[in-house]
Amino acid sequence: MVNLIKSKELSEQIVAQISQEISNYDTPPGLTVIIVGENPASKVYVNKKKKTAEKAGFNSEVIELPESVSQQELEDYIDRLNNDPAVDGILVQLPLPGHINAYDIIEKIRPEKDVDGFHPVNVGRLVIGLEPYAVSCTPFGIIRLLEENKIPIEGKHAVIAGRSNIVGKPLASLLLNRNATVTVCHSKTKNIEEICKQADILVAAVGKAKFIKADRVKPGATVIDVGINRTKDGKLVGDVDFDEVCKKAGYITPVPGGVGPMTIAMLLSNTLKLFKIHNK
Ligand code: NAP
Repeated sequence: MVNLIKSKELSEQIVAQISQEISNYDTPPGLTVIIVGENPASKVYVNKKKKTAEKAGFNSEVIELPESVSQQELEDYIDRLNNDPAVDGILVQLPLPGHINAYDIIEKIRPEKDVDGFHPVNVGRLVIGLEPYAVSCTPFGIIRLLEENKIPIEGKHAVIAGRSNIVGKPLASLLLNRNATVTVCHSKTKNIEEICKQADILVAAVGKAKFIKADRVKPGATVIDVGINRTKDGKLVGDVDFDEVCKKAGYITPVPGGVGPMTIAMLLSNTLKLFKIHNK
């Protein structure tokens, strides 16, 4: 029988603990999110982040900038936030419009305010096994899910489908730092079916509905579905063919209700951590 890895309870528990801790301080931690343009999905994510942060007791601000904002203007906003003592975490919602160099924007954020863990300093520290100021929220949430469900990582073969800077690559480092043997697959990988079938822990972060079918899964494997895809009839589905794969996997995350809620919980956890660093 498959074990369902649900995150609602765990993520609520993490947020409640954070909220409790915040109530001990005179001033709340500050989280500022910058959103550029009118991307509807980004707006939904940003509103959810703001709402959850405020509910937990954070001072949360959203700066909405028009699509036409220039690189310089955006960097000036970041400079102001870098120098604002009330701001502990800065998050620039991706994707950014094509005329903006997202790498330069991320690099402009001070590493100790980079709540998303995307700054090269934080990524570099993660890769060499030092503690970053913050770790990318989605991969960090996946590790918490594995650990809370007592799924062994050390010595296991973890296969990650997807090598984005947001999910696949940081997750590879996190798993490697916990002594997993890690294989990262991407669109140019040959024999991806065979590689996935070797996984004790299989992570799908591709952005394609039903990308992982049962014939790509080893019996008893732990399957983590990061994907968020909208079907033609408006339903939210992951990258894993859940109905088929759940007959074969040992553990599986559902979509929605698996990885997603952990991402916001980890964002708040990162903000609190940065607040503590700034107030040491
Ligand atoms: P992304 O930047 O588009 O990266 C997708 C990755 O999948 C790339 O590395 C790409 O390979 C690889 N890929 C594409 N087609 C493939 C194929 N046929 N075979 C093997 N690999 C293939 O996506 P992302 O930002 O990592 O997000 C992935 C999914 O997770 C999306 O559905 C996104 O919405 C979701 N997501 C969810 C959360 C959450 O909180 N639950 C957070 C972040 C993302 P190349 O590098 O070769 O192009």
